[in-house]
Amino acid sequence: DTIGDNLDRAVATFGDRDALVDRTSGRRWTYRQLADEVNAVALGLVDLGVEAGDRVGIWAPNCSEWTFTQYATAKIGAILVNINPAYRTHELKYVLQQAGIRTLVAAPSFKGSDYAAMIDEVRPECPALTDVLLIGEADWHGLVAIGRGGSAAHLAEIQAGLSADDPINIQYTSGTTGFPKGATLSHHNILNNGYFVGELCGYTEADRICIPVPFYHCFGMVMGNLAATSHGACMVIPAPGFDPAATLAAVAEERCTSLYGVPTMFIAELADPSFGEHDLSSLRTGIMAGSPCPVEVMKQVIERMGMTEVTICYGMTETSPVSTQTRADDSVERRVSTVGRVHPHLEVKVVDPETGRTVPRGEPGEFCTRGYSVMLGYWEEPAKTAEAIDAARWMHTGDLAVMDEDGYLNITGRIKDMVIRGGENVYPREIEEFLYTHPDVLDAQVIGVPDERYGEELMVWLRMREGVSPLTPEAVREFCAGRLAHYKIPRYVHVVDEFPMTITGKIRKVEMRQVSVELLG
Ligand code: ATP
Ligand code: MG
Repeated sequence: DTIGDNLDRAVATFGDRDALVDRTSGRRWTYRQLADEVNAVALGLVDLGVEAGDRVGIWAPNCSEWTFTQYATAKIGAILVNINPAYRTHELKYVLQQAGIRTLVAAPSFKGSDYAAMIDEVRPECPALTDVLLIGEADWHGLVAIGRGGSAAHLAEIQAGLSADDPINIQYTSGTTGFPKGATLSHHNILNNGYFVGELCGYTEADRICIPVPFYHCFGMVMGNLAATSHGACMVIPAPGFDPAATLAAVAEERCTSLYGVPTMFIAELADPSFGEHDLSSLRTGIMAGSPCPVEVMKQVIERMGMTEVTICYGMTETSPVSTQTRADDSVERRVSTVGRVHPHLEVKVVDPETGRTVPRGEPGEFCTRGYSVMLGYWEEPAKTAEAIDAARWMHTGDLAVMDEDGYLNITGRIKDMVIRGGENVYPREIEEFLYTHPDVLDAQVIGVPDERYGEELMVWLRMREGVSPLTPEAVREFCAGRLAHYKIPRYVHVVDEFPMTITGKIRKVEMRQVSVELLG
């Protein structure tokens, strides 16, 4: 199936059930109504001259039009290019040029930044860019109106000519470790992954998924949208950007059964002053993913939010994204402390990054995966593709993992984040997990900073809970003494209100290191 076929199947099976709720506009669509909107946008794009293989960019926060555009482009075989809502002119221009975007669908503005003006500014340098459609404005309405008058038979004919192996989506990675790369994915890649994620969450048409994670990222558009339409569940958009109180209100008022988030989002929701006011009793499951998921936070999500079947997913944009997931029938211990086992129809192995040999169970190495989920490649970057995917089609993730005897995996960090202090390999994750158990600590992130004597020294950045005084380096040392090996105890402590983050809610350790070096310098 292509993604378009998948939506048609959902309409045939779940036609009058809720498909989408957009809390920003207050509007809602059944599967049949959703398909009407999608087909109108698809035929509108055809009328503009968009053909299979053309790149259509989408630059907007979460909104219903994002979802319409996602399925509309898939129906006509156009390659959707997700553009990060946090981008400014420099990055926008890069993506427009790099992907050769022909048609751009964009919000007029978001969070005080004027997208329309930024597009005007870069447009003269983007010769491929033929049409710009601002959501909610005349051109967009015109496109939809023309599309509504279009021929369903013509659309069906286009759709029937597509192959599930064709590229359908370019997703730029989060940019946690550097400049984002354009992972190019097929229908087959992301549709299957969405299906299996939904399967492991046990989704049926009774489920309502609250999606505060950005659609621009695979967490929103694959694990959210594609998982939902594959199983007839309903997608709920709580707000355009992440807002903890709005998310909790959406769960309560829409009776959501599932809630998504990166760890920082769950931390914010649990700490939100409005937390106690919302009835979260409808929640059954959900997904925490995207960064290391602290055991303490997982426990609270189960106990205080009632997400008894919550799962953890691990993956990356390049692999559609999910490679491993915990299952509802795994022990609670494993569900809070591992990223689960390999997903259906995929292979995984943990190798010594130097020799490429598989390491024994229980020993750390680089996580590699192979199967249907591995991307086609980085868009027009063959050298980078060859670095990531080897001749045998194994994707080398750059993440460090340990696999236990039963096949459960633990992600111990990124190879790039590992700290080597006086010859000892230190995994920041382990120290962060330990510091989370301090009652005054809201969030902890550990990095390595250059040190003359040891090569690297450990520094921890802390966010404190409200109303408590900052921890001093002495207090941190005292808390760790006797419970962590001496070489894992952070020497420097830096207390902040916020960590530098990507829009997907990931901590930018690269930036933390730069700031720390200046602070210590
Ligand atoms: P870039 O590749 O541009 O530097 P990124 O790797 O953060 O950014 P994504 O593809 O969004 O971009 O994220 C994938 C990465 O997120 C993984 O490689 C892994 O490091 C991390 N990750 C995802 N899920 C988990 C998880 N459950 N536990 C630990 N780490 C995770
Ligand atoms: Mg990455």
